Amino acid sequence: MSDILVIGSGGAGLAAAIAAHDAGASVTLATKLGVASCNTAKAQGGIQAAVGADDSSELHFEDIMRSSHDTADPVLARVLADEGPATVAWLEELGVAFTREADGELRIARCGGATRKRLLQVGDQTGLAIAGALRTAVGERDIEILDHAALVELAPGRAVLDRKGERSVLEPKAIILAAGGRCKRVAAETGELSTNGDGATGEVAELAVAAGCAERDHDSLQRHPTGAAWPEALAGYAVPETTRAYGARLLNGRGEQFVDELAPRDVVAEAIIRECAEGRGITTPDGRPAVHLDCSPVDPADAETSFPYTLRRFRKAGLDPLTDLLPVYPVLHYQNGGLVIDADGATTVPGIWAAGEITGGVHGRNRMMGNSLLEICVFGRRAGAAAARTVA
Ligand SMILES: Cc1cc2nc3c(=O)[nH]c(=O)nc-3n(C[C@H](O)[C@H](O)[C@H](O)COP(=O)(O)OP(=O)(O)OC[C@H]3O[C@@H](n4cnc5c(N)ncnc54)[C@H](O)[C@@H]3O)c2cc1C
Repeated sequence: MSDILVIGSGGAGLAAAIAAHDAGASVTLATKLGVASCNTAKAQGGIQAAVGADDSSELHFEDIMRSSHDTADPVLARVLADEGPATVAWLEELGVAFTREADGELRIARCGGATRKRLLQVGDQTGLAIAGALRTAVGERDIEILDHAALVELAPGRAVLDRKGERSVLEPKAIILAAGGRCKRVAAETGELSTNGDGATGEVAELAVAAGCAERDHDSLQRHPTGAAWPEALAGYAVPETTRAYGARLLNGRGEQFVDELAPRDVVAEAIIRECAEGRGITTPDGRPAVHLDCSPVDPADAETSFPYTLRRFRKAGLDPLTDLLPVYPVLHYQNGGLVIDADGATTVPGIWAAGEITGGVHGRNRMMGNSLLEICVFGRRAGAAAARTVA
């Protein structure tokens, strides 16, 4: 058995596996579905890092704290902000080709809650590019991959995997949990729409809590403000925040703007829900509440550069975002809370580390857009390196 067992093949698990391997440990990565299945690959809008000339990691840190309404763990938020620019450089070394302006500068946008332009993009398939580069880097290393292998039992130094009904017991020196969030399961239970993929079911966090790991903000789930409410084929699709970063407006049923489109996510989502609850929304053909996202103020060149995939998907479904109003409503998107970690990803149980959406504290009770893709790289790498140091 390898020194280190990583659970999950999203960005956090892949980054942890790379860092642990590069620090000298032998690594096995087990993942529940196919190795490419994860929420990371679905991320569209972008990744935050303070790379702008008028920006700094101090401003990034302040924006995280303010957007979280001071509920984020300041130690973790500081690490996240400080390591943003170096993380982007690392991703570029791995082959992530961030979108650049004609003059060669990185293209950056201002996202909700931010005081500066800080959102780097790979068109609107940023997560796909990052996950692909990390998977390639894992493939270039001597890292054992077990796909369709679900963690079903957990204790320090002991993990039971279920591979298509066959169970195996592994006894690694360290375990890194990077199994993402639970919004897909919650949506199935409540009947809400969700942006999440099939793997986002949350059982690994439950196993960790049962093994003694402390958890925080368990109840705090984030709704993406602009989930598509119509057309039916796109219901639940997260219309990226970059639409609003480049000028799209939210309009109620009377055609009035009712919120600052670049306010923190929870503020925008609550404003939409309130607008509908108080009778100023619209109703979709299948009876769902919604408001309109009006992308017509966006320069078509910005749209083609920063959300081409979104344009294609809506046009295929019969609506042109640049000329038609898009019915949108908040959808379940992200679990803010999760396992308590320190700055090296150590949980409160020795021998178990964690990184990514399964953890809590980095964003407090309200995550800013773009900080999750950063978090999975920063804390995935930290957890991998720290676990490798410990087993050495
Ligand atoms: C549609 C969408 C758009 C988004 N856009 C952005 C964005 O623009 N910017 C941003 O910063 N964030 C964005 N996010 C959020 C971000 O993508 C995720 O929070 C982040 O990628 C989570 O990474 P992760 O590695 O922690 O988990 P995931 O990428 O979800 O990976 C979890 C892995 O664990 C596996 N797993 C689960 N249970 C088990 C088990 N029992 N045993 C073994 N393996 C298991 C899963 O199959 C999966 O491989 C978006 C999310 C979605 C869904």
